[in-house]
Amino acid sequence: MEHTIENKLKKADKAFNDWKNISFEDRQKLIKEASEIFKNKAKDFAEIITKEMNKPISQSISEVEKCATMMEYYAEVQNILQPEKIDSEFSISEIHYVPKGVLLGVMPWNFPFWQVLRFATPAILAGNTVVLKHASICFGSGNAIEKVFLEAGFPEGIFQNLEVGHKEVKEILEHSSIKAVSLTGSERAGAEVASIAGQKIKKSLLELGGSDAFIVLDDADLDEAANVGALARLQNCGQTCVAAKRFIIQKEIEFEFLPKFIQEYKKYIPGDPMKMETKLTGMARPDLADDLEKQYKKALDNGAEAIIPLERISDTEFNPGLITVKKGNPILTEELFGPLGMIMIAGNDDEALEMANNIPFGLSNSVWTRNEKRQQFFINGLESGTVNINRMTSSDPRFPFGGTKSSGYGTELSLLALKEFVTAKTILGK
Ligand code: NDP
Repeated sequence: MEHTIENKLKKADKAFNDWKNISFEDRQKLIKEASEIFKNKAKDFAEIITKEMNKPISQSISEVEKCATMMEYYAEVQNILQPEKIDSEFSISEIHYVPKGVLLGVMPWNFPFWQVLRFATPAILAGNTVVLKHASICFGSGNAIEKVFLEAGFPEGIFQNLEVGHKEVKEILEHSSIKAVSLTGSERAGAEVASIAGQKIKKSLLELGGSDAFIVLDDADLDEAANVGALARLQNCGQTCVAAKRFIIQKEIEFEFLPKFIQEYKKYIPGDPMKMETKLTGMARPDLADDLEKQYKKALDNGAEAIIPLERISDTEFNPGLITVKKGNPILTEELFGPLGMIMIAGNDDEALEMANNIPFGLSNSVWTRNEKRQQFFINGLESGTVNINRMTSSDPRFPFGGTKSSGYGTELSLLALKEFVTAKTILGK
């Protein structure tokens, strides 16, 4: 292993020995300081994001501001990691929550500040230290985050950016200093990293892809569903794990809803990422655009029909596409990570539910209906980590976030995330 990486792991280990003994409240004070820095310098950090991965600047600013809000939440949460006394016949009868140590974060480029801090903040508040392997196009974001931790007054070694490519992850994860790993990214990367962790009996948390349904029923507010649906698909140029990717429309409203939806969809035209009014930009890398084009062709070859053709206009830019897809099309087993939406028509609620669930993923579905019974039917039946009623998915620090099936396992955000990387230690005595 490269000397500098070895040194950083040693530093993280050393920092952990002190950090685990710092009080929860003192850790919270530092998190609060960091949240202030993110809030005050949101525009500067946003520029790094946009330059590295092309996101429209207004969305980059929102991403950094959301990080600040999330950190503020953790700066004020109750300490659920205090030793708990359990009523029993023993005179000493307690549960202690012990941080695991140095954690590795393997993070993607699509939300280069949010994904990192969503993992790191509760992990560090729980007493762990973190080393980051960021996406290779986002080392600037990783370094900027490291600097904020230092500027906020965190001791050195609490959060470090490693600047390594994915080939080096195996050796780092196998290192005795690393106690667990959290990965956000593709199924392929997740499966590989989880198997290395498994070989070494280290815990892993995976936040992987999705192909979420956006179900519109005949009693929904169709104007709002059309407007929000276009945003839910095309925000961040469609490169969001919880983006609405399949629009399941009840047959009766197909011809009323689709024109409204198409009208909203066509408002997204690629523009200059640095201009505040730009809503859509190119994708993060040309190879990702190549992949999306291949998936588009595959869908059409297997019977999908283009409502709006996906049109490549530069190495990374597209005029967004919309296709109708029928059951059995193999594209339904894949994640479309870009500006291409799928329309499916369902005869009734049962069929809509069956279509929504009949994929390998289960991240966050959205259902549009005013009828409470129908809402309940989908709340109970949808196989996903989140169900939204009459709203698009957007994570909220107060609520758990995570998937089921091939979308991964483990919980991020909320109080629950504080217990992801701790050992519950039982203490009993007479
Ligand atoms: P990856 O999953 O390859 O990248 C995410 C992170 O994992 C990066 O830090 C990457 O490093 C790392 N990584 C990649 N392969 C391995 C590996 N074998 N071992 C350890 N770490 C690895 O995503 P891509 O950028 O290639 O995007 C491909 C697809 O993944 C997208 O089209 C989308 O479907 C999905 N994706 C989903 C995301 C989500 O939010 N759920 C986020 C990003 C992608 P490096 O950059 O050095 O390769």
